[in-house]
Amino acid sequence: MIKKLLDSSWFYYGAAILLVVGYVATQLQVQLPARSFGDIEDLREIQEMEDLNVVFVLIDTLRADHLQPYGYERETSPVMNRLAETGIVLRNHVAQSTWTKTSMASLWTGTYPVSNEVLNYQHAIPEAATLPAEIFRDAGYRTTGLYRNGWVAHEFGFQQGFEKYVRPQTAQTQAAVQRAQNSPHSLVGNDWDLTTSAAQFMELYKDEPFFLYVHYMDVHQFAYEAESALFGVEYKDAYDNAIHWTDRNVEYLVAKLEELELMDNTLLVIASDHGEAFREHGNEGHAKDLYGETIRTPVIIALPWFLDEPLVITDVTENIDLMPTILELAGLAPVDETDGRSLVPLLMGEPDPNPGPAYAHLERAWARAEDEEPIVAIRTDDQKFVWWRNWKPRPIIELYDLDSDMGEQVNVASEETEEVDAFLEMAQAYLDREPASWGVSPEAVELDDQKLGILKALGYVIED
Ligand SMILES: [Zn+2]
Repeated sequence: MIKKLLDSSWFYYGAAILLVVGYVATQLQVQLPARSFGDIEDLREIQEMEDLNVVFVLIDTLRADHLQPYGYERETSPVMNRLAETGIVLRNHVAQSTWTKTSMASLWTGTYPVSNEVLNYQHAIPEAATLPAEIFRDAGYRTTGLYRNGWVAHEFGFQQGFEKYVRPQTAQTQAAVQRAQNSPHSLVGNDWDLTTSAAQFMELYKDEPFFLYVHYMDVHQFAYEAESALFGVEYKDAYDNAIHWTDRNVEYLVAKLEELELMDNTLLVIASDHGEAFREHGNEGHAKDLYGETIRTPVIIALPWFLDEPLVITDVTENIDLMPTILELAGLAPVDETDGRSLVPLLMGEPDPNPGPAYAHLERAWARAEDEEPIVAIRTDDQKFVWWRNWKPRPIIELYDLDSDMGEQVNVASEETEEVDAFLEMAQAYLDREPASWGVSPEAVELDDQKLGILKALGYVIED
């Protein structure tokens, strides 16, 4: 029998095929952490998981269009690409503001900036607000938040619900991270401090359900290790180098989850608070305007199983939708009343119960305690409207046709007066919205010189 098999040419073909399949399988194993395969219909099963973990990775200052899943030509994020290829990508996603505190207050509370009123450098989220970490903690999850950005520090109310909410100490053995030349940023330490702390947390709590928030900062700081210096030395190149370096931090987190055999029961969500401008509209940095380069952010969701096909959502979605979505996936009650909606129906291919345009809002005078200079942006499927309401000598009104002008370069407001009127009405209705359901306006936190120094190290000019 064996002789006969060996004589048969089919045997050799079969062996060759097996070798190829084996080789591909090995490659898959190298490239992708071990999880089961499944499809999106299994989504509801997450809610039944008793031991689900949620890892929420926030990459500060990451604009969507510098990642390949959003069309970028440079391979800035091989690990996040692979997570996107086997997970969910929100393609037309909008952050609620273009600086960290206002944007993150919206993300966590699921409410628009005009509702939660966290608009200037002194404002803090009130105790009366219910934050998702409180819901996770009360449901028996271990909760930890790790950050380096002073805008999400304790004094601004972001610690609510986290059993541990820490800015990790700078490690003795620092990774050799460098910054872009002429960088205005001088924050000490680097994101490896966060990654190693996150790994320690996961090891400690691997046998209990946990909610872990890791807020990376090195993209904001244009900081990267030599091995990630793949794209040159110009300022914009340094930004891409920093994305690559952050991607390697994500790789380590994923490897840790795999080592602890947690990939099959962990929901990993990657998002950002705002993008970064490189003079597309004259400004460099962020916190100055609401154009696409600063409000269009990525969202990549890795489920506890591989999707055979990536799920790419092209509907307009917003950061205020993320926590309602994550809480529903975890089978937990939502935060009281949010402006954001759970995206679970949309992900399941069901009708979206609450589709609508996205709003972004920047109080342009955020670095001062007085004055009101709101800028409001509205993003629909194919249009982008921007209203600089109190701009002197007269308000600025912009309308862009995203089908032909994704870069928002040709203002067609003067040709589309009827549409502009409709958008103006929507923008005014946005500014007139009721305050958030907890009914308490933010407290103003007095910041001492040390705190102001930490915030200024992020490169912000605060007029104290
Ligand atoms: Zn930020």
